[in-house]
Amino acid sequence: MVSSQIEARGVRSQRVLEAMRKVERHRFIPPDGQAFAYRDSPVPIGQGQTISQPYIVACMTEMLEPQPSDRVLEIGTGSGYQTAVLAELVAEVCTVENVERLANRAKTILNQMDYKNICLSLGDGHQGWPEAAPFDKVIVTAAPAKLPKALLDQLKPGGRMIVPVGRWRQELMLIHHTPDGCQRERLMPVRFVPMVRRLNLD
Ligand code: SAH
Repeated sequence: MVSSQIEARGVRSQRVLEAMRKVERHRFIPPDGQAFAYRDSPVPIGQGQTISQPYIVACMTEMLEPQPSDRVLEIGTGSGYQTAVLAELVAEVCTVENVERLANRAKTILNQMDYKNICLSLGDGHQGWPEAAPFDKVIVTAAPAKLPKALLDQLKPGGRMIVPVGRWRQELMLIHHTPDGCQRERLMPVRFVPMVRRLNLD
């Protein structure tokens, strides 16, 4: 998976490639999806949600430029796969999920894998995680219609945020917090599940 889908498409960071090799993707996928765990595509994880394509996970992670001392906010825990990849690379990952079942499942798997640098919260990611802010990096894996201001406010000076923005047509955006304000760079058209405003406690 890593050499043919990720390295071949231009992801160069050795740290990111190593993390992608280490984290076993199949552990995050429900039993009926196991055959698709290492495919070059998103895979359903239940509750109408998907785990992102491996290349997208690697690409977004590389664009964050993760540093060992970073504290990272992730919106959209989903399966917990992206969370685990980040946890291999940074000091702490704070992740927010709005679907209770997915949050519980991800928590169980991440605990089994013995990650000590992950905290998980059930909530609406539009609000970020104000009590744990500020963050060096923010990664959003569901698409808000427009950039949530709370997330920008929780980014440290010099920080980077990667986020797919848009309702129908989504664009992956890189936000760089500089002394002259926030620079926004459009990276590529993408397709993520929408970021919704309600909690799902079913
Ligand atoms: N990073 C995930 C991919 C998850 S798909 C992985 O590696 O598996 C996007 C996730 O965002 C879904 O789990 C969805 O439930 C969640 N989501 C959607 N709207 C949200 C919101 N407002 N707050 C937090 N999470 C949200």
